[in-house]
Amino acid sequence: MSLFDLSGRVAVVTGGNGGIGLGMARGLAGAGARIVVAARDPAKSAAAVAALAGLGGDAVFVALDVADERSCRAMVEAALGQFGRLDILVNNAGMSIRKPAETYSAGEWHSVLDTNLSGAFRCAQAAHPAMKEGGGGKIINIGSMYSIFGAAYAVPYAASKGGLVQMTKSLAAAWAGDNIQVNAVLPGWIDTELTREARREVAGLHERVLARTPAGRWGEPADLAGVAVFLASAAADFLTGAAIPVDGGFSASG
Ligand code: NDP
Repeated sequence: MSLFDLSGRVAVVTGGNGGIGLGMARGLAGAGARIVVAARDPAKSAAAVAALAGLGGDAVFVALDVADERSCRAMVEAALGQFGRLDILVNNAGMSIRKPAETYSAGEWHSVLDTNLSGAFRCAQAAHPAMKEGGGGKIINIGSMYSIFGAAYAVPYAASKGGLVQMTKSLAAAWAGDNIQVNAVLPGWIDTELTREARREVAGLHERVLARTPAGRWGEPADLAGVAVFLASAAADFLTGAAIPVDGGFSASG
């Protein structure tokens, strides 16, 4: 068996119906994993499932709202009902509200934290029993450059993504004895619906990202496929609690 072979593995990708989630799901499917696309929008998810099936793999859609604990538990039950096991969880679902720091309502603050940080914790908790019973697992949390840097116009987003790294380290320590490795991926600026919206709202963002990224380009969702396969595979069995930038050098340059 190749070090990166995921044949027989089952991966849940939250928010796997587009952007970075679908980019990672394509990588995992290409390595042989069966995929559960877990998100809210059924039409968008059906298209993603069809695209993944086109790669020759098995993929299904399971409805999920990460802000709802019952939905997270039901999603894991449905995944187990479909495929009988759960080996890989990619906590990718995320959102942002961009505005001046002093203008956030309590509801806006909580909705970002609840989706990006608490949602990942809920899904990890829901997945833990099946992973433990199956002899181990891999959890991949999607952070951000704002896990490292501050975001003047997206304070709750940066708080959630910073917290996600500490949650990653803590779960890595908590569940190492269950042979569950927990790592974070910190994407640089990737061309997706989320950042297209940001580019419309933040003047000069596109040019600033190009100027600051040593690779000289925005990332594509496909740029995240390799790290997903690596972290999900036996090649990363001794790698846990890490936060890996995949950013064209953005965080390495001043
Ligand atoms: P998208 O907006 O394309 O994807 C976000 C996904 O999350 C959607 O598929 C959406 O699906 C899902 N989602 C949102 N809220 C919920 C919810 N409550 N329950 C379940 N699913 C939900 O953005 P990206 O692909 O860019 O973002 C993916 C992740 O990567 C996010 O965590 C984001 O913060 C992170 N990231 C993105 C970067 C970038 O440059 N693009 C950089 C760094 C990090 P649906 O609406 O169907 O539920």
